[in-house]
Amino acid sequence: MSIHTPQWEGQRPELDLKRVGRARDLSAVELDSQPGSFVVTSTTGTIRYVSIRPDYNCECPDAVHRNVICKHLIAALIADGDREAVKAAESLDSTAPPYMR
Ligand SMILES: [Zn+2]
Repeated sequence: MSIHTPQWEGQRPELDLKRVGRARDLSAVELDSQPGSFVVTSTTGTIRYVSIRPDYNCECPDAVHRNVICKHLIAALIADGDREAVKAAESLDSTAPPYMR
């Protein structure tokens, strides 16, 4: 079963910096067999499969119920080299107070 998050009419929501911060605790690895799909692993070992192409798709409650770019998708975007996501992550590195790093 797959739940698709709605498309954002060509313009995706702004990346929430709090989620960008949490995304940095995740590791995202693109699947060779399925470009655009990522295995996202948290520090606690929880695994989620998400995709950012052709659709943004994550089945976590954040993505499904709140219609936002969740931390899993952000982790995938950062791994993918998405300019906005990488920039957001870098801005956190230079501006975040120590407890957020
Ligand atoms: Zn998610």
